[in-house]
Amino acid sequence: MKFGSYVFLPEKAEGFDFHLYRVKPEVGRRMPPQPEMYSNIAIFGDNVAARNHPDWISQSPLGPAWRTNNNFNVRWDVLCATQPEHREEQLDYIEDVARHSPGVWLNSIHFADHDHCTCPRCNELHQKSGLSRLEWRRKEVTEYMAQVSERVRDRAKKKFVIGVLPDPVTNYERFGVNFDDLAPLTDEFLVVMFSKNYATPWYWEMLTRNFKKLFKEVPLNISLYVFGPGDDPREVPTASELLTVSCRMARAGVDNILYLTESAEQLRTFQKQAVAQVELRDTLRSYGGKPVQEVLDFVKGWEGIVPS
Ligand SMILES: [Zn+2]
Repeated sequence: MKFGSYVFLPEKAEGFDFHLYRVKPEVGRRMPPQPEMYSNIAIFGDNVAARNHPDWISQSPLGPAWRTNNNFNVRWDVLCATQPEHREEQLDYIEDVARHSPGVWLNSIHFADHDHCTCPRCNELHQKSGLSRLEWRRKEVTEYMAQVSERVRDRAKKKFVIGVLPDPVTNYERFGVNFDDLAPLTDEFLVVMFSKNYATPWYWEMLTRNFKKLFKEVPLNISLYVFGPGDDPREVPTASELLTVSCRMARAGVDNILYLTESAEQLRTFQKQAVAQVELRDTLRSYGGKPVQEVLDFVKGWEGIVPS
């Protein structure tokens, strides 16, 4: 086992076996590669390219992949994954960076999220392919990664690592990523696990999607611990966390949600706190379509029984 540093500044911390430097993070800023640090490049998450070419942004029935679109887990602006000029420019850029560093580790190699991209070019490419939408997206991601791999491994003769988002089961449905396709193209995989402070309860939403896929037609109930017997009050989730997670699970397809406490009194406390979250409940309205509205309407119904 080896231990690496993964940094935003071109500084090699002492005591690590290898170093990964964010040459081009999702904000789109580009820094010179370092001869003794691997280079980390985000391809389609690119705020700078999105600002310069707003028409390159990925499209969907729930709106474009601007970082302000609460329907998706996008924390930066994400471009359409078939944009030909960006693809071509990134190929040359990645090969150049590979030549000036020990290798390239990629992030943001895929479609922005589920139901992306529905721009006219993608719709046309999809129709011409004769494939299902999901299979067409998979083909796009795989074929582009084959081109990048050829640039880094065959031409620049450097190490190549593909990064994927932390979702082992529904990467294909959400992003067009098929791990078996990519395995022969890469030397290693990188899974970026998010900070505890990451702005969305990513993991609950992901697990909901994963179980929904694995359970197929059988309805999925999920219970959330509100306050378990003996729980330390400082460690139980807040009402706002529970509300947010409920909405995230709703849009990921959960059929029913249970709230777990020891006593009915503790549930009443939770209901009061949830009802008091007026501002958050307003914000959450923008987090998704019908299922999210259903959760929020349900919570609104508590206003009559637990007046704040
Ligand atoms: Zn597109």
